[in-house]
Amino acid sequence: MARKRLIAGNWKMHKTDSEAGESAVNLKALLANIKDIDILICPAFTSLYSLASIFRKTSIMLGAQNMHFEKEGAFTGEISAPMLRDIGVAYVILGHSERRHIFNEDDNMINRKVTAALAAGIAPILCIGETSEQRNRNETLDVLESQLTRCLKDVSKANAKKLIIAYEPVWAIGTGKNATPEQAEDIHRFIRTIIENLYDRNTAEIIRILYGGSVKQFNAKALLDKPDIDGALVGGASLEPAVFAEIVGMARIK
Ligand code: PEP
Repeated sequence: MARKRLIAGNWKMHKTDSEAGESAVNLKALLANIKDIDILICPAFTSLYSLASIFRKTSIMLGAQNMHFEKEGAFTGEISAPMLRDIGVAYVILGHSERRHIFNEDDNMINRKVTAALAAGIAPILCIGETSEQRNRNETLDVLESQLTRCLKDVSKANAKKLIIAYEPVWAIGTGKNATPEQAEDIHRFIRTIIENLYDRNTAEIIRILYGGSVKQFNAKALLDKPDIDGALVGGASLEPAVFAEIVGMARIK
């Protein structure tokens, strides 16, 4: 089954709103007419509104990097899914390893966020991945299975089809080390099997699985050539519009 590829840029806590606006204008010039690949930019919260206006009438979509699981309430400093949806946010990154490790988010909290995003009509990009210690102890497959099972608890089959999964080995994020295309492909196939066990074959074939972890313009093509790698979640290399556009270009050539 042909899954439309998705290249997502995670800008993390980079770029003031004026810097983000300048990058967005450049991205629009470089990528506005691309229709065969889904393109997503996830800026800081402070730039979501202005980028929604810059990307209007282009095919570039907007994602958030996090959200709270409640719709509203006394949660100082938090932002909810309906607030994001209202300004045109289509996707939200959930369970990123920086949220898990720096901000102590666990699978239970991520599950509540996944459910809340789906209820608001936002597609979650659910990040899973093992640390280097877990990898060295040969626990990778158990860790991934457990993260998926817990984060998708009580998510219906119909909703599961709207999800994106990002396999992001923690040891590869921001380190310049990345999984080889073969390692990543094996893991992506394993993730598809877990989805099949949780739901069914059809759902497993529909869900897009992105690879993330030091994806750069010089290694993206070999990763994206693999049949079960449906795109990339790009951190550092997404900050420079021309480099990000180059990676998008690589996703277009099979
Ligand atoms: C990320 O932030 O999800 C990521 C993969 O970062 P980097 O590409 O910089 O490793």
